[in-house]
Amino acid sequence: MICYVPAENPAAEPRAALTPATAKALVQLGLDVHFAPGLGAASGYPDSEYSSAGATAAPDHAAALAGADLVLRVSKPAAEDIALLKPGAVHLSFLDPFNESALLQKLAAAKVSAVSLEMVPRTTLAQKMDALSSQANLAGYAAVVQATARLGRILPMMMTPAGTIMPARVFVVGAGVAGLQAIATAKRLGARVEAFDTRPVVEEQVKSLGAKFLKIDLGQTGQTAGGYANALNAEQIARQQTGMTKACAQADIVITTAKLFGRPAPRLITADMLAAMQPGSVVVDLAIDTGGNVEGSTPGRDVVTANGVTILGRTCLEGSVAHHATQVYAANLAAWITHFWDADKKTLNLNPDDEILKGCLLTRDGAVVHPTFAPKA
Ligand code: NAD
Repeated sequence: MICYVPAENPAAEPRAALTPATAKALVQLGLDVHFAPGLGAASGYPDSEYSSAGATAAPDHAAALAGADLVLRVSKPAAEDIALLKPGAVHLSFLDPFNESALLQKLAAAKVSAVSLEMVPRTTLAQKMDALSSQANLAGYAAVVQATARLGRILPMMMTPAGTIMPARVFVVGAGVAGLQAIATAKRLGARVEAFDTRPVVEEQVKSLGAKFLKIDLGQTGQTAGGYANALNAEQIARQQTGMTKACAQADIVITTAKLFGRPAPRLITADMLAAMQPGSVVVDLAIDTGGNVEGSTPGRDVVTANGVTILGRTCLEGSVAHHATQVYAANLAAWITHFWDADKKTLNLNPDDEILKGCLLTRDGAVVHPTFAPKA
């Protein structure tokens, strides 16, 4: 079975879908692994290491795609690349399926078995394949590091002969995977950290990291069966905004990570709340890819408000730590392949009854097969 790993668009994506370590693991399974020269250039993995791991450089992209039984990527494929894939090929990548119905139709028409990493179930069995978590964890870390670099202040308390420097205050909104890592990172750097989430179960996790949990009475919030947050109604959002205004005004850094699975992110930090913040403070909106939590946050651009608050607008913050983001993303893919590998037949066994496959396989045999995205009869 031939596995090809194309290069990503270098202007948009520094991560890669293969490391030398996962190349070695896939070769050991029995896969014939091909990679685009320069694949790991932006994430610090040289071609020579892929070759030493047993992978073969494939300089002819079109020929490599057309010959592949399995394709691994980070980003969704371009339409012209889908047209080159052979029927029955398996394609693993992020696909942004809630916003890309035309792409899914193209993958189905090409008879490709397309797997969406966003849709891998968040279960214990699939934990090793959970790319949303592996990337969100690094994004939470990077958010604190990038905000700190822009702050013009330090985070820890310092008692010096020249006087005492008070610790910075960090407020984290949304304490899922990214938020909890942001809390832990800010604590390690010595900040005084406060956090809020609408899922009540999170309070203990926040406190166990040594942070304070901000109490806001929103009435019934709960969470979905899959562990995701429920959307709030307009009155609950207004109560949340009132409850967070003081925490924002006191904070040197605000990091927002509040997302709703498959839906636009809630708008939580208003222009009025920004106007009440101190000049020089920094806001990082980690929900910017799905619409943003912060009024005025702009993808790809840093915005400074009239009162001197910087809103960092960088998308895909995990790309700023591309070496490790690639390490764990490639490991997620290798875990997926290993789970479905038939060692005797040296091929993938995509059993349609497998619970993980049911969650993340979107197209197969010419149709969109996932119930969430299949055209309604
Ligand atoms: P996410 O990215 O969908 O959302 C981030 C956080 O924002 C969540 O904690 C959510 O509750 C919060 N949020 C939503 N609306 C908000 C609002 N109005 N105000 C404040 N916060 C708000 O979440 P995630 O990090 O992907 O995690 C989702 C769930 O999946 C969690 O329950 C997590 O524990 C669970 N999970 C389970 C596994 C596993 O069991 N293998 C792995 C990873 C995550």
